[in-house]
Amino acid sequence: MTDLSLTDLAAGTVVKPGDPEWDAARSFHSGIGEPTVVVRASSVDDVRAAVRYASSERLDVMVRGGGHSAWGAVPGGVTLDLDALDSVSVDGTLVHVGGGATWGAVAAILAEHGLGVSSGDTASVGVGGLTLGGGIGWMVRAWGLAADQLVGAQLVTARGEVIEVNDESHADLLWALRGGGGNFGVVTRFDFRAHALSSVVFATLGVAGDARPVLRALRDTMKDAPRELTVTYMDVPEMDPSAPGGAAITACWIGDDEDAARAALAPLLALDGVTETDLGVRSYPDILMDMPAADPDQPMPGFVGGNTLLADLTDEAVDRLASFREANQASVLFLRSLGGAYGDVPQDDTAFPARSATWFAMAGAFDIPGLVHDDNRPLIQAEWDAIEALGEALYGNFTVSTDPAMVSRMYAPETIARLAAVKRQWDPQNLFCRNHNVVPA
Ligand SMILES: Cc1cc2nc3c(=O)[nH]c(=O)nc-3n(C[C@H](O)[C@H](O)[C@H](O)COP(=O)(O)OP(=O)(O)OC[C@H]3O[C@@H](n4cnc5c(N)ncnc54)[C@H](O)[C@@H]3O)c2cc1C
Repeated sequence: MTDLSLTDLAAGTVVKPGDPEWDAARSFHSGIGEPTVVVRASSVDDVRAAVRYASSERLDVMVRGGGHSAWGAVPGGVTLDLDALDSVSVDGTLVHVGGGATWGAVAAILAEHGLGVSSGDTASVGVGGLTLGGGIGWMVRAWGLAADQLVGAQLVTARGEVIEVNDESHADLLWALRGGGGNFGVVTRFDFRAHALSSVVFATLGVAGDARPVLRALRDTMKDAPRELTVTYMDVPEMDPSAPGGAAITACWIGDDEDAARAALAPLLALDGVTETDLGVRSYPDILMDMPAADPDQPMPGFVGGNTLLADLTDEAVDRLASFREANQASVLFLRSLGGAYGDVPQDDTAFPARSATWFAMAGAFDIPGLVHDDNRPLIQAEWDAIEALGEALYGNFTVSTDPAMVSRMYAPETIARLAAVKRQWDPQNLFCRNHNVVPA
């Protein structure tokens, strides 16, 4: 391997403060960062050069896949932008995806081959961050997490070497990449095992009235539901006249059997206050959401609240979640059914926590002056903490907090110890620390 340095890279690859492209290069989905330098890699060699440069200059590396996390806001360091590494190629059911690809592009190409991979729900989210942190989406009960379909990767290590990771080669790293985040190197290629997918049945059910009986019925229905079915429950406030608030159940059935989907949803449609607003066969790329990037002049407000992976959606959890939403006018409540294939994966097979979870729950009050006051913020946080105490673990991908303490809420102590040992072997200098950081053991 040649010894590359930043000066060998093609014009436009390295962007510094004052360059015409600077503002565009340092923007990410939810804001604009203040890195020392941005390297826009278009090859594995560019990635190697950036990593070696960062290592020699003792600069942190922020790997930007889809740019949807909060790490882009941490000042200083090298932002390593993988946007141009977006290739997708299909070899039977094995799919090779560049480290900077986004899920919308992957889903569109796989659809042409009658294939699908479990992903997240939003088209612009990166394959990189979502997969390395786990990846919960519409196929989670049918096929598991995005990380569960990861069978191999090409990785640029902290030493700037290129290695192949799979079951036979560096199996410890494959375990860590499945849920342990971006701690271990730069993934320049993800290898996924895809599934046959023609289309999906997608349904939206409007919900009115008290959330409690609906959430209890949702829990009971999902206990015995076929794993083709995954549901979410979301209750959002009206933010402006163009974005009306309200509660809804959204359901996705893997396959095109409308009758089977409707039968699985029948107990919900029989409930008072639940109405079918939409149900039909759609393509998978078509159901992925578009979420425009934030306007840098109007940053997103923070949240007071959190998320948790729940072994069971108990009556107490239902009551606390509904009460949280009711008590906070400008708050969001989101739940997603798990179980099925997600729970089939033995706990120790991947770094992802809480395989016993049957629900994911997230609630947060928008931290907007006038709505959340300094004196009631601790109260709201305490309400959330009581909910989190009912859960098994925090899902790191769904927190915007960059507090290092998050890691101990994400993983069991034995998982942190195992991750820290892998980290020590592959990144003892902790070059890759712009993530839910596992400190080298
Ligand atoms: C609008 C929106 C919708 C979302 N929907 C879902 C959802 O449906 N399901 C879900 O599970 N999550 C969802 N998330 C959370 C999402 O999974 C995380 O924000 C994730 O970190 C985003 O990945 P990214 O590549 O876009 O982000 P980035 O900010 O680019 O990266 C996030 C982290 O991953 C690391 N990383 C990224 N790519 C690589 C790579 N190739 N090699 C090494 N490290 C890498 C980065 O260093 C960083 O630590 C959503 C987030 C947003 C903002």
